[in-house]
Amino acid sequence: MPFRDISGHRPLLELLGRATARGTLPPSLIFAGPEGVGKRLTATALAQVLNCERPVEYGRPTSDVRRPTSEYGRPKTEDGKHEAGKDACGECAQCKRIARGVHADVLAIEPGDSGSIKLEQVREAIDRAAYRPFEGRRRLVVVDPADALVDVAQEALLKTLEEPPPASVFVLITSRPDVLLPTVRSRCQRLRFGPLSPGEVADLLIREHGVEPAEARAAAAAADGSVGRALEASAEDANDARDAAVRLLQSTATSADPRRRLDGAKALVAGGGDRDEVSRRLLALSSLVRDMGLLQSRADDRALANADLKPQLQSWLRSFDGDRTIKAFATVDEALSALDRNASPKIVADWLALNI
Ligand SMILES: [Zn+2]
Repeated sequence: MPFRDISGHRPLLELLGRATARGTLPPSLIFAGPEGVGKRLTATALAQVLNCERPVEYGRPTSDVRRPTSEYGRPKTEDGKHEAGKDACGECAQCKRIARGVHADVLAIEPGDSGSIKLEQVREAIDRAAYRPFEGRRRLVVVDPADALVDVAQEALLKTLEEPPPASVFVLITSRPDVLLPTVRSRCQRLRFGPLSPGEVADLLIREHGVEPAEARAAAAAADGSVGRALEASAEDANDARDAAVRLLQSTATSADPRRRLDGAKALVAGGGDRDEVSRRLLALSSLVRDMGLLQSRADDRALANADLKPQLQSWLRSFDGDRTIKAFATVDEALSALDRNASPKIVADWLALNI
């Protein structure tokens, strides 16, 4: 993903684009900032622009002279125009191989099972970095997260960070730069990634992760500028929503007793009956009902959204024939529209439990 497609961090990305265009990129970098804001993506974009066969111009228009030139060190060329930065095309063979994670000159050093990055891993990367790049122009060694480096591994890196092999760039990614040895920190140029704005997080969730807009906005609001955290939260919410939907189906599938059915409704409004939360649970319910319909039509398992619950879905089918399933689907839909029209979540949940 080239710089231009990364959300947020505009000044920092432009800085990298200009340094690349001018050939002044420091060879040892620390990308510091919160988890899940795009540090690793930026390292990949940097690898791409350093190796791209058809780089493109990047940065604000050259006629934009209102900003002070001192900001982020924007240089002017001799004729007074701002110098353009460089960005990867994203299309050439180099860009594509880097995006797929199969480029021989982009090395990722990551923690093994122990959770830490060991001396041997660092030694091996240093050895490989000593050779000329195999298929590209520049090699990028990404250590992610750098705070997982054991102390001896950090010490082993010192000399290389001080004077990397000519074609190599080292990027140390971390949300906790202060955990790194001071000697490591002092040999690297530190770039600080700030949190993303809630709008940027929501856009990313919608665009890159297919999250529904309402859910994306809710997750972004609570994620404190981190896409990683928003995704985690939305996965947690999704699990929670599905659990509630499963409980409702369990208590309504086989029982005509209104009291038992209303117990199922409680699962839908558990935790206070927040409108967004109840909507999420209804959407999960709708997805389960849809899967029951698919099973009735003997669709392929791969079509199921909840394939892991297949045995349970099949057991409910004993009480949900085709007609009841279709009616249930419509009932959930009606409940969702009622919520949208500001009906009380508790009343909607009770009505649904009695009618599904
Ligand atoms: Zn390219």
